[in-house]
Amino acid sequence: MPTTPIILSIAGSDSGGGAGIQADIKAISATGGYACTVITATTAQNTLGVTDVHPIPIAHIEAQLDAVFFDLDIQAVKIGMLADSAIIQVVAEKLRHYAPRHVVLDPVMVATSGDLLLQQEAIATLKEALLPLATVITPNLPEAATLLDCTTPHSYQEIEALIPELQQLATPAVLLKGGHLQDQADSTDWLVRASGVQTFLAPRINTHNTHGTGCTLSAAIASYLGQGNDLETAITLAKQYLTGALVAADQLHIGKGHGPVHH
Ligand code: PLP
Repeated sequence: MPTTPIILSIAGSDSGGGAGIQADIKAISATGGYACTVITATTAQNTLGVTDVHPIPIAHIEAQLDAVFFDLDIQAVKIGMLADSAIIQVVAEKLRHYAPRHVVLDPVMVATSGDLLLQQEAIATLKEALLPLATVITPNLPEAATLLDCTTPHSYQEIEALIPELQQLATPAVLLKGGHLQDQADSTDWLVRASGVQTFLAPRINTHNTHGTGCTLSAAIASYLGQGNDLETAITLAKQYLTGALVAADQLHIGKGHGPVHH
C-alpha cells in the first residue's frame, strides 16, 4: 500500500502562524505530504513584524535531526530560516551524514518586514557549507544579490546578466524568484542550471497578504519532489499551489499588517 511521503522542514517558527514552520506544515499537508519538523529558532512575530528571535540550542537541534532521521523515512527536506553560522554547521553536518535525496534550500535572510532572520556573518557559511548539499536553492532577487555580492537586479535584463554567475554557485540548480519585480504583469521564476535556463510563469496576484509566500513555495517544491516528481514538474506544481494560496489570501483577515497566504 503506498504511504504518504514524509517531508522534513528545517526552519524557524513564526508565532503568528503565517510563515516559517507553520506555513511549511500547511503547504506540505495540502500538497499531499506528511510534514515533520526540526525547529531552528522561534520568533516572536505577528503580521506587523518580528519582535524577538530565539535560536534553539545547537545540541537540541542536533537531537531533533537525529530523532527524525533515525525513525522516519524522509523523502525530501526543505530548509528555511537558520539564524546563525553554528546552526548552519550542524544542519550541514547532519545532511552529509543522513544524505537525503532532495534538499530544497530557501536562503532566508530578511523578512518582508525588514527583520533579520540570518546573521550577516553567516552568509559565507551558508555558501560554503550548505549550497553544495542542496538539490535546488530558491532565492528571491535581494537574496540572490547577497549570495552573488552584487546589487539587486530590477529588470529582466539585469536578471539575465546574472545567469552566468548563478551558474558558478556551488549548487546544481538555482530557482531565482522574480516576484519582487512589482511592475510586471506576470511572476516569472528562472531555473538556472549548468545545462541551461528554464522560465516558469504565473499570473501576478495583487494582494497585501503575501506573508509566507517564499516558505510556501519551497515547502511545496520539497513535497512534490518527495512524491517522485522531477524538478521541473515539482516547480510547476508548487507554483500552481502558491498561485491558489495567493488568490485565496484576501479571504483571510488575519492581523493588522501583511496577512498570510491562504492554504
Ligand atoms: N519568519 C520566519 C520564521 C520565516 O522563516 C520567514 C521566511 O522564510 C519569514 C518570517 C518571512 O516571511 P515573509 O518575508 O514572507 O513575511
